[in-house]
Amino acid sequence: MYKALVVDKPADGYRCAPAELDDAQLPEGNVTVRIEWSTINFKDGLAITGKSPVVRKFPLTPGIDFAGVVETSSHPDYKPGDRVVLNGWGVGEGHSGGLAQRARVNGDWLIPLPAAFTTRQSMAIGTAGYTAMLCVQALERHGIVPTQGEVLVTGASGGVGSVATALLARRGFRVVASTGKLNESDYLASIGAAEVIDRATLATPGKPLAKERWAGVVDSVGSQTLANACAATKYGCAVAACGLAGGMDFPSSVAPFILRGITLYGIDSVMAPKAKRLAAWEALARELDAAQLDAMTHEIGLAEAIPAAAEILAGKVRGRLVVDVNR
Ligand code: NDP
Repeated sequence: MYKALVVDKPADGYRCAPAELDDAQLPEGNVTVRIEWSTINFKDGLAITGKSPVVRKFPLTPGIDFAGVVETSSHPDYKPGDRVVLNGWGVGEGHSGGLAQRARVNGDWLIPLPAAFTTRQSMAIGTAGYTAMLCVQALERHGIVPTQGEVLVTGASGGVGSVATALLARRGFRVVASTGKLNESDYLASIGAAEVIDRATLATPGKPLAKERWAGVVDSVGSQTLANACAATKYGCAVAACGLAGGMDFPSSVAPFILRGITLYGIDSVMAPKAKRLAAWEALARELDAAQLDAMTHEIGLAEAIPAAAEILAGKVRGRLVVDVNR
């Protein structure tokens, strides 16, 4: 038996509750993992509350990421005792996920836990942090360097935003952090923001082309914020868009693309190929400061993930929430 959260959709509504499950209820897969830590990402908030149709199969255990120890495996790459990390692949959406003491998955979806991290640290990073690195690496591949100017991080106090801020500052960029939580300015400065701006300044319709300011952008907000970020991106520079915390629309024009030659990179972590994941995790192991990661992280127990889901959707969570699935 193991403890898990379970999302169900009976005729009278949508609910998520703690449950005791039998191992026989684990889904198909060739690796069974004893989970130590999971997390709450924005998408987990959607899955637990049912605010968007993230969960495609019922009943299902939510949780798009986890870290733990292999219990049994018939996959050639893994043996009992190996420490592993999982991000995405539809886990916590169409296949039972990480908000549980146990998971069974396809071993191809796992990566070995980087030696630099404990399972807890890997989940303090979680899917949000790994996605932040994918964004930073997209800007890097574009050739953007600190001498080209400032970079903008939107949703800066959230999970993706906090890790992106720390990573870009560490790489020598002057990071401008856009946030709705101006009371978290000291926190943002402590993880590397050189300047904090009110997200309201990016939330209303602006000109198709604004004064050129950003050498690069990591955007987890979407909608008008992303449109305004593109409009103020410098000639030939780039924006990495990964999120929709402010909305799924993109009310932009072609002007920044055809008159300034800017590039908009779409970042997907869920189906990213394994080589890209390994490169992102290796870079995180090299670059992320452990003390800063700790400062971003707040720990909760399994049942507390349910109220935390509503909090993250309301934009009230600072940094990252790690879930101790054994508490
Ligand atoms: P968080 O909730 O931790 O961070 C999102 C932040 O966005 C909030 O903290 C808040 O920051 C800001 N925000 C929230 N609501 C609004 C709003 N209505 N308008 C403007 N800003 C808002 O979420 P995550 O970091 O986990 O995820 C961020 C986004 O990235 C989500 O949309 C998520 O789905 C997406 N994502 C995508 C991935 C991919 O593979 N493409 C992978 C991981 C995440 P502040 O108060 O500082 O403004």
